[in-house]
Amino acid sequence: MTQLSLHRNREHVEPQHAAAREENEQRSAWLHEWNTVWFVCECSDHVCPDQIPLNRSQYEELRTSGTRFGVAASAKHVGPSSDRVVARHEHHWIVESATS
Ligand SMILES: [Zn+2]
Repeated sequence: MTQLSLHRNREHVEPQHAAAREENEQRSAWLHEWNTVWFVCECSDHVCPDQIPLNRSQYEELRTSGTRFGVAASAKHVGPSSDRVVARHEHHWIVESATS
């Protein structure tokens, strides 16, 4: 899966979030086959190993804004200065990341 190359234009995303978001864009294709897909945590720790289960509507909720990211449900995945938690779900939180 990760060997696939992406040719679409990238949105402007903070660099620390971009890799996880790119990975998750690929994984979102699996929502055509499964109700729930494991996505990678999009917190600012670019080596964060955590994954979060999302269904289609939860994934689409995340993608309504280019500044919102899905992270594992714990405060340690929220950036202390740049991130603000906007929704808390059972297995994932949505953070709004301040962009300059
Ligand atoms: Zn994380």
